[in-house]
Amino acid sequence: ENQRARIRHCFFAPSMEGIASRKLKIQSLLNTGSALEELDVYYQPLIDATTGHIVSFEALARWHNAELGFIPPPEFITAAEDGGQIVELGELIMQTACLQLAQWRRLAPALKISVNISPLQLLDPAFESMVANALQLAGLPPQALKLEVTEQLMLQSSDQVLHKLNSLQSQGIQLAIDDFGSGYASLNYLSSYPFELLKIDQSFIMDIMREERLLTLTRTITELAHSLGLKVVAEGVETTEIASLLQTLECDLMQGYLFSRPLPVAEVTSMLENGVPW
Ligand code: C2E
Ligand code: CA
Ligand code: CA
Ligand code: CA
Repeated sequence: ENQRARIRHCFFAPSMEGIASRKLKIQSLLNTGSALEELDVYYQPLIDATTGHIVSFEALARWHNAELGFIPPPEFITAAEDGGQIVELGELIMQTACLQLAQWRRLAPALKISVNISPLQLLDPAFESMVANALQLAGLPPQALKLEVTEQLMLQSSDQVLHKLNSLQSQGIQLAIDDFGSGYASLNYLSSYPFELLKIDQSFIMDIMREERLLTLTRTITELAHSLGLKVVAEGVETTEIASLLQTLECDLMQGYLFSRPLPVAEVTSMLENGVPW
């Protein structure tokens, strides 16, 4: 009896219960309107590797909850995917990002915005009209928007998803494959899906100075992407050494703490008003 209790205790350790209840807590907060009210979007610049100019910003969701404090995006995005709130949450992020870009375009007319898309959002039949609606509401052309999807999407690859991506691309929306190299992407998808941008996973970039293997992989991925007509983004660029190495590898765009962390709206606005520091 005693031993069984100990085993039970072992399997249902407080940390596991803690994780499960935190997820449930996050999901119930997502279900209340207050979660959507607390949601914020930060923006991180993407830099043209040749000119050094900002060409776009990536929208990154932020959630500071009164009770739980800062909740890391991968945690609440996953909770929203599992709890069925990702479509609503994704729509809010899309609308927020598009309206914000429309404001900033008064200061920088060519600026674009990248929005991360969960694979589940793409499976939603209303996805295309949601995107069209957000663009229209903000008065933006489709060319102002880039959608970032991870390799994960390819696992659920279906004719439907491919059809939807082709349709978005033909409207002028740019598609980026995110975290390339981290997971399951088959090289076949690179040529058969309508991607225009490839974002090399930041784990490659961060250790590129220490691991020869990562340098070789990054060079090879970049050459392959270019030969297929895709532009390459390196993210997680934290040092000037890495930035100049990436320039010699002919990466097209760079993103990372070296240039800027993701910033709240007010900081981006004053940056655009005052001219940028690089
Ligand atoms: P991601 O799309 O790969 O975004 C890049 C992440 O790397 C961001 O983390 C960003 O803050 C961080 N980062 C950028 N530069 C550097 C750097 O130089 N060094 C380091 N250490 N980190 C850097 P964040 O904002 O915490 O987001 C994490 C992930 O959560 C994102 O990865 C994305 O998968 C997901 N996510 C964030 N916002 C959204 C959203 O609105 N929708 C969806 N579906 N997913 C989102
Ligand atoms: Ca991304
Ligand atoms: Ca990424
Ligand atoms: Ca990532």
